[in-house]
Order: sequence, then C-alpha cells, then structure tokens
Amino acid sequence: MPSADILLAIAVPLGIWAMVLVFVLAVLLAVNDGVQRLRRLHQVPCFRCQYYTNSPYLKCPVHPLNAGSEAALCCADYEPAVATRFSHPKTRFRTGSPWLKFSSSKS
Ligand code: SF4
Repeated sequence: MPSADILLAIAVPLGIWAMVLVFVLAVLLAVNDGVQRLRRLHQVPCFRCQYYTNSPYLKCPVHPLNAGSEAALCCADYEPAVATRFSHPKTRFRTGSPWLKFSSSKS
C-alpha cells in the first residue's frame, strides 16, 4: 500500500498542475485569437469609404450585407472618402483636412 500512496502523492499534484497549465494555455490562445480578429477588423475599409453612410439601418447602399464586416476587406467598390466643406463631421470620416476644420468651427 505505500506504493499506492506514493503514486497518489505524485499523480494528484501533477494532475492539478496539468489542469492549471491547460487553463492558462486556453486563456492565452483566446487572447491571441481576439487580438488577431481585432487587427483584421481594423483593416475593414468601410469607415474610410465614401459610400459608408454610418447609419444603423443601411451602412452601405452598394453592399449592404458586407459593409463593416470581414467580407468587405477586399471590396472592389471601395472609394476613399473625401471630406468637403459641406461634410457633416459626425457622418464623414475625418481626414483632418482644412475644409472640415473650417466647416466645424463655423457650426
Ligand atoms: S462600397 Fe465596399 S468598402 Fe465601401 S462601404 Fe460599401 S462595402 Fe464598405
């Protein structure tokens, strides 16, 4: 029986440490997956596109189902937004152009 006690004294801590290690690895993999997904979503060009409406009802009239998602990463209809002096600062991508500063300072 002493050999069974020795076996238990070794197997139980090993099992606990193995579970802790698996838990830590699962958390690290989940964090890594989240960071990679976030990086990919930051590459979505819709928020810099002139067709993006910033409306929750219709985000893009050209591709309403793909707008703001990973499906729009390679959108062939992407056109860079151009800020004009008549652009509303909340509905257009802010490029820092002097026209946008001029229009926002007047209102
Ligand atoms: S045209 Fe393409 S890139 Fe532009 S908002 Fe629509 S889906 Fe996004």
